[in-house]
Amino acid sequence: MTVARRKGDAGKCDELASRLVRMRGYCEYPGCGSTQTLQCCHIVPRRYSRTRTRIDNLLCLCASHHRLIDTFPDEKLMVCQEVYGVGHYMQLRDDAEQTGGQRFDWTAERARLQALWDRRPM
Ligand SMILES: [Zn+2]
Repeated sequence: MTVARRKGDAGKCDELASRLVRMRGYCEYPGCGSTQTLQCCHIVPRRYSRTRTRIDNLLCLCASHHRLIDTFPDEKLMVCQEVYGVGHYMQLRDDAEQTGGQRFDWTAERARLQALWDRRPM
């Protein structure tokens, strides 16, 4: 029962974070700017709960650049620096690996993301 609920919250978090990032409205790959086939791309892989739905771990990319970035890690680092600045990737990595020995609270994360969604500019 508890497991199913937690999984549901995590799934809802993924959905909200993806919607929030795609609201940027264009591909953030330098020089692209496409408004088509926009997807949510994780900088640090989504298997790390602590950074999985952090907005600053996500990029809005067209399908072609999402594929490119997932294939070539140096491309991902380059775009991360362009969008969030130098040093951000190492900060994300550090944050992702700190577990604190606790299970991630997806219910609280869902409330945080829902509040961001509710306050989004229309
Ligand atoms: Zn693109």
